[in-house]
Amino acid sequence: MRDTRPLLEAIPFPAIRRGQLDTLQVNLGYRCNQSCIHCHVNAGPNRTEEMDGETIDLALAFLARRRIAILDITGGAPELNRHFRRLVNAARDMGARVMDRCNLTILEVPGQEDLAEFLAAQHVEVVASMPCYLLENVDRQRGSGVFESSIRGLKRLNGLGYGRDETGLVLNLVYNPQGPSLPPAQASLEADYKRVLGETYGIVFNSLFTLANMPIQRFGSMLISKGQFDHYLGLLRAAHRDENLDGVMCRNLISVDYRGYVYDCDFNQMLDLPLARGGRARVHLADLVDDDIAGNPVQVAGHCFGCTAGQGSSCGGALKEAAE
Ligand code: SF4
Ligand code: SF4
Repeated sequence: MRDTRPLLEAIPFPAIRRGQLDTLQVNLGYRCNQSCIHCHVNAGPNRTEEMDGETIDLALAFLARRRIAILDITGGAPELNRHFRRLVNAARDMGARVMDRCNLTILEVPGQEDLAEFLAAQHVEVVASMPCYLLENVDRQRGSGVFESSIRGLKRLNGLGYGRDETGLVLNLVYNPQGPSLPPAQASLEADYKRVLGETYGIVFNSLFTLANMPIQRFGSMLISKGQFDHYLGLLRAAHRDENLDGVMCRNLISVDYRGYVYDCDFNQMLDLPLARGGRARVHLADLVDDDIAGNPVQVAGHCFGCTAGQGSSCGGALKEAAE
């Protein structure tokens, strides 16, 4: 796979400093039951890296000590980590809001038959990838049979009350473009998704988040191979808006890898661009338990234009509704 980091580091990006930390994002490992072509984690069934029980304990200690409001759990398919449910239970006992970045097909994997019920019982917010409401597009990007399995997963979550305001069980979908283009306006695409998924399958959900594809890992490598890297970066840079700098997720979130090392965001984790603090080569979560990093400079590079282009992109979707 071609590494885009040297190309991205040569591209200047405006300086960003951290604000108050409110979200701990933990990557429980790179194992996944899928291997999607745009995956910025390069996850798949053969990856073996996963967070161990000791690092899970540290994450819980950090949540408690720093009174972090939101635990955002990601992977791979994070549910495949054997400590996943213990982490969720303990974080919910502390009163944290817990988000699971769920690929939906995991709900049908052997051994995960009761996962949907577990998530509902713990009031875990489900953030599910759904790059299109059309079968061909989803299967092309995420693999054969993924669309129908995802639809079954959404129906199952709906059956438990997910996606309806009155239940408080939040089901959000994530859209990313099929190729090297900017995502369309979030509000109008959400309306299209709600109409098509509702009318065709009877599916309801709360919000659609639109995210730009990041020029890193599998997608970045594909851009280089197809000679599209410079064009895509040019597109992102031309659409940059300074006002989006205030809303980028690295201001309020840290991303922790399966070993416990800390990054300014998940994308920096995948580029192996660690959070910079105190001249250390790498910062471990254990180093930050008593260290407030507000005001710390963020490690930025060319990929950051993926967060500030157009309506902007964060783990909560578009930053601005101006592009509606
Ligand atoms: S489901 Fe998510 S983590 Fe798994 S391969 Fe696809 S994009 Fe990557
Ligand atoms: S990729 Fe986005 S979230 Fe990550 S450091 Fe750059 S601007 Fe911040």
